[in-house]
Amino acid sequence: MEKSALKEEILRLKKEKNAVILAHYYQIDDIQEIADIRGDSLALAIEASKIDCDIIVFCGVRFMAETAKVVSPNKKVLLPVENAGCPLADMATKDAVLKRKEELGDVAVVSYVNTNVDVKTVSDYCCTSANAVNVVRQIKEKRVLFVPDRNLGEYVREQVKEKEVYLWDGFCPTHEEFSLDALMRAKREHPSAKVAVHPESPKAIRDTADFIGSTSGIISYVEKTDADEFIIGTEEGILFELKKRSPAKRFYIIGGSSVCSNMKKIALEDLYNSLKLENYEIILDDETIQKAKEPIQKMMQIKRN
Ligand code: SF4
Repeated sequence: MEKSALKEEILRLKKEKNAVILAHYYQIDDIQEIADIRGDSLALAIEASKIDCDIIVFCGVRFMAETAKVVSPNKKVLLPVENAGCPLADMATKDAVLKRKEELGDVAVVSYVNTNVDVKTVSDYCCTSANAVNVVRQIKEKRVLFVPDRNLGEYVREQVKEKEVYLWDGFCPTHEEFSLDALMRAKREHPSAKVAVHPESPKAIRDTADFIGSTSGIISYVEKTDADEFIIGTEEGILFELKKRSPAKRFYIIGGSSVCSNMKKIALEDLYNSLKLENYEIILDDETIQKAKEPIQKMMQIKRN
């Protein structure tokens, strides 16, 4: 099918099935373009829970679709490509987290939203890259096991010095690849550019940045900052939203390119098939949903500073 016909069919099916299409900022442009909502993972899941629809099609990776199911248990949640996973999330398992928690004794498990649903069921609090510092700062517990991203965890530890933060040895392969050499080269080539990076990036990259924040945080920093050029340290799918919101500004990804292959698995054909055949449905039992919801609700009760 031609691309335009495919897009029309997707929109027709979406209407017929009373579905909503969510796209993470790292999805391919065609998917971001046709989505009802673009955003960060948890923000998308929460937005979709407020929409009156029967089906949520989550164009992202598995943990994101699982989170959408946890917050919208009565809706059918679909992930268009069954094996779109997240290597970072897969670096922490429920059993390994429980074992580490036992070794450490009295700790609160704070899980980044980038965890599989079974890890959320044994977590005390959930957090996002946008609120991780605030969550760890505000909770009553003084000792924290931060799962699974060691770079984000280290960033939190640097900001919340009054707490003991134990790190998990996980990392996002996409952000871990950013090198200081590549960043310094970009700075030499674009000396007036501001540097905005995601906290999943290594410390040397974060320490050289003008701004550290979530994907949404980077997008609003670029919008608000009075500069013409930006060196960006996150997955290049963000360029779609950056160019849309700040068309006159110029962007350079550290190292020239940064791609999460899992985020790029969903093509328009997959989205079409997902809507048509209603696959691949996320199925979670009630107990898992209830237990995974608790750390998310506890996170939402923490006041923002
Ligand atoms: S960019 Fe990193 S954290 Fe995000 S889905 Fe890909 S591997 Fe996972």
